Parts: sequence; structure tokens; C-alpha cells
Amino acid sequence: MSECLFCGMVAGSIPADVVHETDRVLAFRDINPQAPTHVLVIPKEHHRNVAALAGADPALLGEVVGEAHRVAQQEGLVAGDGNEPGYRIVTNTGPQAGQSVDHVHLHVLGGRDLRWPPG
Ligand code: AMP
Ligand code: ZN
Repeated sequence: MSECLFCGMVAGSIPADVVHETDRVLAFRDINPQAPTHVLVIPKEHHRNVAALAGADPALLGEVVGEAHRVAQQEGLVAGDGNEPGYRIVTNTGPQAGQSVDHVHLHVLGGRDLRWPPG
């Protein structure tokens, strides 16, 4: 997957503003933030979307979600085991949803009121 942008970040050949890392998961700030906190959380292993990851390694999907929550805690979006002020996880699949990088990523968004429904 040498042409994958996010695999390049995992490999260290493309710079990333890393906020959190484990042996299997990487979290870094989105280059075009849509909220005061906008972090992308990815498995280091390449999977093209969330369903592919769920099918191949559901435990790793669980780790990615857990690390997204940890990032939200680190960013002050949830205190202790509460859920305030809160945050949003988004993952886009396919062009109509706006997926532009074919390496599964969770957007962690927060720090402002987030409208619903999304655009
Ligand atoms: P999506 O459009 O859901 O596939 O999300 C891809 C995200 O990657 C977008 O929000 C982009 O702003 C972000 N992105 C693209 N290039 C970079 C980069 N070099 N560093 C950090 N984030 C990036
Ligand atoms: Zn990749």
C-alpha cells in the first residue's frame, strides 16, 4: 500500500501531527479541521473502510473506537467516565459520503456545537 497517504504516515515517510499512538493505532490532527478538535484515528494496518476492518479484525475496530474515546478525553471533550461536553465520531464510506482516503479513519470532532443532521 505504498501509495496510501495514511500508510505513509504510519511508516513515517509523510509528516503527521500525532496526538496519540499505540502499537496498532495512530491518531493525528486533520490538516483541514472542521471543529476545534478534529483528529483522525486509524488502524496502522491498511483496511479500505470500516466494514472491511470489521470483517477482517473486529478486535482492532474495537481498539480504534477505544482510542478515539481516549483522544476525546485527552482533548477535554469527556471528563472521567461521563459524556460531557461530548464529541462525534464520523467515518465516511464511498464517494457520496465524501470518503477521500481509502484507509479507514474515524473523524473525532468536538469543541463546538455540532449540528444534526450533518450536511
Ligand atoms: P475523508 O474525506 O472522510 O476520507 O477524510 C479524509 C480526511 O483526511 C480529510 O478530512 C482531510 O482533511 C484529511 N487529510 C488529508 N490529507 C491529510 C494530511 N496530510 N494530514 C492530515 N489530514 C489529512
Ligand atoms: Zn493505508
